[in-house]
Amino acid sequence: MKNAVILAIGNELVEGLILDTNSRYLSQKLKLAGWYVIRTETLPDNFEIMKDRVAKALEDAELLITTGGLGPTDDDITREAVSAVINRSLVINNNLVEELTKRALKYYGKSAKSVSKQAMIIEGAEILDNPVGTAPGQFLQIGGKTIILLPGPPSELIPIFENVYEKIKTNDSLYTRRIKTIGIPEAILMEEYKDVIYSNPEITVATMASYERGVEVRFTGPFILKDSIDTICSRLLLLLGDSVYAVDNSDIQDTVYNTLKKNGLTVSFAESCTGGLLSSTFVDLPGASDVYKGGIVAYSNDSKTEILQVCKETIETYGAVSEECVREMARNCRVLFNSDFSVAVSGIAGPSGGTEEKPVGTVCIALATPKEVFSSTQHLRGDRNSIRKRSTLLAFDMLRRGVLEWLRLQELSRK
Ligand code: ATP
Ligand code: MG
Repeated sequence: MKNAVILAIGNELVEGLILDTNSRYLSQKLKLAGWYVIRTETLPDNFEIMKDRVAKALEDAELLITTGGLGPTDDDITREAVSAVINRSLVINNNLVEELTKRALKYYGKSAKSVSKQAMIIEGAEILDNPVGTAPGQFLQIGGKTIILLPGPPSELIPIFENVYEKIKTNDSLYTRRIKTIGIPEAILMEEYKDVIYSNPEITVATMASYERGVEVRFTGPFILKDSIDTICSRLLLLLGDSVYAVDNSDIQDTVYNTLKKNGLTVSFAESCTGGLLSSTFVDLPGASDVYKGGIVAYSNDSKTEILQVCKETIETYGAVSEECVREMARNCRVLFNSDFSVAVSGIAGPSGGTEEKPVGTVCIALATPKEVFSSTQHLRGDRNSIRKRSTLLAFDMLRRGVLEWLRLQELSRK
C-alpha cells in the first residue's frame, strides 16, 4: 500500500475553535481508495511551518492532501507554501479570474481585487472545479508524487474530493457494505447470525453500537471479494428483515421520509419529553413539507387535555407517562393534522420526576395509523439528552415499522 499524508491548515484548528472533520472524512475515504494514511497534522497559517511539513510529507508519502488556506485573504497561503517547496511558480488563470468575478458580482453585487489570488494556479496543476464556493481545488502530479489542494469548508471539500476520487483510487482499493439495524442488541445480533456474518474469514467485520443510532454491521475487504461481501449482505438482509433501516449513509429519519414520500403518505407528531426533537429532526430534511403536516409539543398536562383532547380521566388514572395517554395523543394528533400517521411520545427524561413505579427513563410511545393504534413502554438509561435522543430514534422506528406494515396490508388487500 502506498502512503498518504493529510495536512489540515488553519489557526482556528490549532486553537481548538474548529474540530478538524476534514481529516476524518479524508482518512476514511483514502483507506477505501487503497491508501495508507501514515499521519494527519493540523497546522497554523504559518508559511515556514507549512513549508517544512509539506516538504516532510513529500519525503514520506506518495500522496499529499492539504485542506484550507485557499481563500482570498492574507492568511490563506497554502498555494504559496506548496509552490515554494516544489519550486513551481504560481500562474494566474485569466478564465478563472473572469469566472470568479462573475460569481462575486452575482452573489454580492461587487467583486474584491483579491479574487485574483484565488485564481493563482501552481504551474502544471489541474483545476478542480468548486461548484459550491469560490476557491477551486488543485491537482498536481510531480516526480511520482500526487498533491491535492482542497478548500477548508467541508461543504466545498467533499464534492471536490468526490470528483477526484476515481483518479486516486489504487489497485489496493477496498469494497465496503454497511447494514444499519435497530431493535436487536449488538451481542445478540452478532451471536445469532455469526455463521453468516463471519462466513468468509478474509472479510473484515466491524460493528458499531450507538444508543442513538442502533447497531451497524460493516463488511470490508479487497475489491476482489465484492461478490462474497454482497452475498453475505443479501443473506443477512433476508434474515434481519424489518430490523434493517438503512444500507447506506442514511439515518432512520431519511428512511422514514423516503418511504412516506414514495407512497404519498403524511405524518404529524405529538411530543412531550422529546420537546420537539421529532419535528426538528424531520424538518432538517430538505423537502420535509412533502410528508410532514406539523407537530405539537404538549408538555404540561393541561396542554395534553386542552390542545390534544386527552381525557382528564386518562391522565388522572394512568398518568401522563402511560401508554393510555400516548395512544390518545397520537390518535387525536392524527385527526387534528389530518395526517395518515401520527407518533406520540411521553416520558420521564430526568434527572428528577421519577418514581418507584415509573423511574427516570420510562418512555411511552404510540403510533396511530389509518387503521389502528400501537404503543409500547421503554425503559431507557442515560442522561436527559440521551434519553430524549433514544426516544426519538425509537419513535421513528415505530413509525417506520408501522408504515411498512400498513403498506403490506394495502398490498394484500389489492390482491
Ligand atoms: P475560504 O475561502 O472559505 O476562506 P479556505 O480554503 O481558505 O476557504 P479556511 O479559511 O482554512 O478555508 O477555512 C474556512 C472555514 O472552513 C473554517 O472557518 C472552518 O469553519 C472550515 N474548516 C476549515 N478547515 C476545516 C477542517 N479541517 N475541518 C472542518 N472544518 C474546517
Ligand atoms: Mg480562508
